[in-house]
Parts: sequence; structure tokens; C-alpha cells
Amino acid sequence: MNIHEYQGKEILRSYGVAVPNGKVAYTVDEAVDAANALGSNVSVVKAQIHAGGRGNAGGVKVAKNQDEVRTYANEILGKQLVTHQTGPEGKEVKRLLIEEGCDIQKEYYVGIVLDRATSRVTMMASEEGGTEIEEVAANTPEKIFKEVIDPVAGLMPYQARRLAFNINIPDELLGKAVKFMMGLYQVFVEKDCSIAEINPLVTTGDGEVLALDAKLNFDDNALFRQKDILEYRDLDEEDPKEIEASKYDLSYIALDGNIGCMVNGAGLAMATMDTIKHYGGEPANFLDVGGGATTEKVTEAFKIILSDSSVKGILVNIFGGIMKCDVIAEGVVAATKEVGLEIPLVVRLEGTNVKEGKQILNESELNITASESMAEAAQKIVELVK
Ligand code: ADP
Ligand code: MG
Repeated sequence: MNIHEYQGKEILRSYGVAVPNGKVAYTVDEAVDAANALGSNVSVVKAQIHAGGRGNAGGVKVAKNQDEVRTYANEILGKQLVTHQTGPEGKEVKRLLIEEGCDIQKEYYVGIVLDRATSRVTMMASEEGGTEIEEVAANTPEKIFKEVIDPVAGLMPYQARRLAFNINIPDELLGKAVKFMMGLYQVFVEKDCSIAEINPLVTTGDGEVLALDAKLNFDDNALFRQKDILEYRDLDEEDPKEIEASKYDLSYIALDGNIGCMVNGAGLAMATMDTIKHYGGEPANFLDVGGGATTEKVTEAFKIILSDSSVKGILVNIFGGIMKCDVIAEGVVAATKEVGLEIPLVVRLEGTNVKEGKQILNESELNITASESMAEAAQKIVELVK
């Protein structure tokens, strides 16, 4: 799960990690009031969306007085902000962070991720802050320093000091940088983060070490024990189809294509998407209905696929192991009766109760193309949506 920058900064502040003073605003008037309350000479108006690259896209503006705060708030609120992370359709800005302007001396990068290669939490830091870390990694990898963290000992102060030293934090600020990194690590572990990225971390003219940006992502599997994090969820930032799917515990990811897929098992779902692509089609979604799906769950899954207006055909590919083919068939029939089906549907069923499943589909009088193999099913649906 993803949260906004201002929420991330709230968490950091509660752990003693230094961030500039700031306030969230939902309207232009609130933005001006927030700037007033902050009382600093320069305020920064920052679009709050779940994507980075806002600065280059006009979503971060430095205001020198109240009038400029009003102008920029007016300009950014309600705007469809397109950054390199939002996709071409962009994201509508519904919240702003009004923050004290900082006298930046230098921008750095500090991030914590789980490194799959070493199976360890790893802290990375670089002197090349403010730019995309992916670019630094591609062009000047020697400018990224890493510390692999022992899960029992946690981040050791000497590791933080070595990082701060390697990225050339001025000597007099090393202590503050170490405190910052130790606090960030504590947030990462205690809040079950999957990513904690500060880009940029800055040193300021008055000798502070601050997080100017904050990107915190959380492990969905840990949210059951992170109730306060769950409160930060912003449904406006999520695909409505994905929200609906999460209510029924379905693994659903919306994609750009036009062939809706209903599959059981993540591996089979991936293979189905690959097969569709192999035959020149584009999947509209990833959907794993899971092993023990009920008719109700399958019905909801089918409804979610059909609610996507770009879907021009559906491929159901089910291997009935724990999941039974007749349950799938019942779900498909129930859902199409409820919402109607005007687009081609190709079904490939195999495994437990396949006979009963096929019979249910046959007797339904729906316009279904049955298929014996995965390759054939994919070819057929690609043909039909053309
Ligand atoms: P994004 O990563 O989405 O572009 P950031 O929060 O990193 O957004 O902001 C982009 C740039 O704007 C920063 O690198 C920094 O130079 C500047 N900036 C952001 N917040 C402040 C602030 N409070 N004071 C001064 N400059 C800021
Ligand atoms: Mg940033």
C-alpha cells in the first residue's frame, strides 16, 4: 500500500526523523491559511498524488508570498498531473502539502528496500539526490553506496556513519545524518515498509538534515497489524476495479489491453497473459481468483472484468484442482445473467468436475466458445476481439 508524502512525513516526524513543517490542504483557502499558520517567508505548494516526478511536471512550486500560494494552489488543485510515473492519463490532484521553504545546501538520496538477492533489508545512499535514482544506478552506479543490514542486529550506527561519510555529508552534520538514518530504519521495520525512500534528503543553510520528500510503501500482508497505516489509505488513488476486487479478496491488477482474463493461480494467470501476448493480443488485467473461490467470488470477479469498458473479449482459463470447474461455470453463468454479455467469451476448463462444468455452460445457452487447450483458447480470443 502506498501513502501520500505528507502522511509519510507525519510518520517520520513521530519517529524523530527531521522533516520541514507543513500542513495538508484540500482547498485553495485552506492552502492560504496553512501558509499563514506556518508563518515562513517562503512556502512550497506540493501536489499530493501517489507518484513521483512532480517537481518536473509542475506539481511543486515555491511561493514567495500569500498571493503566490493562492495562485499556485489554484493552478495545481484539480489539475490532471502527468509525471513519468503516472502514465499518460495522469492523476487528479485533490490534496496539497503546504510546506516551509528550505534553504537547500545540497540534495542527497537515502532509501531502504528489501534486496531479494541477499534476502536482507538494504540501505542505499547517494550524493546524487533530487534526480531519479534509477538513472544514477544506470549511468554512475559507483555513486550509490549500500549497507546490507543484519536482521537481528538491525542497522548499526557505524553503518549509518559509513554511508553518511561515503556520500560526503559535511563533517559537522554527520551526527544528524546518522540519527536520521537510524530513525528511518526504525520506521521501515516497525511499520512493515516495503520501500522507504527519501529523495531528496537535504542539508540546509542553518545546519539541518531534513527529508524534503518521503515515499513510504507498506507490505499489504502486514496491514492486519498496522491499523494506523490502513487509516492513511486514499481510495481516490486506487483503481475502482482494484478496490472492488480487494473487497472479495481477489488478486486483480488492471492493465492496458482489451482481453479480460479470469484464471486461478498466479502462475497460470501469468502464463495465460504471456500466451495471449504470444498470439498478438493484449491482456486487460491480471486476475487470480484463488484456489478456493466460491460462486459468489467468481461472479464478482466476472462483474469486475465486465465493468472495464476497454474489455472486448474474455478468456476464462481454469485448472480445477482445489477449485472445481462447475463452481467456475456457475459463477460465469450467474454473472452474465446479472450484467449481460455482449462480447465474445472463450472458456478453457480442465480438471476436477470438468464434465459438470462444461454441461452447465452448454445448458446456459450463452454464446461461449469452448476450448481444449490454452494455446487454442488464446488464439481464439485474440481472433475474436480483432
Ligand atoms: P518529486 O520527487 O515528486 O519531484 P519532491 O518532493 O522531491 O517531488 O520535490 C522536488 C524538488 O522540489 C526537490 O528536489 C526540491 O529541490 C524542491 N523542494 C521540495 N520541497 C521543498 C521545500 N520544502 N523547500 C524547498 N524546496 C523544496
Ligand atoms: Mg522526490
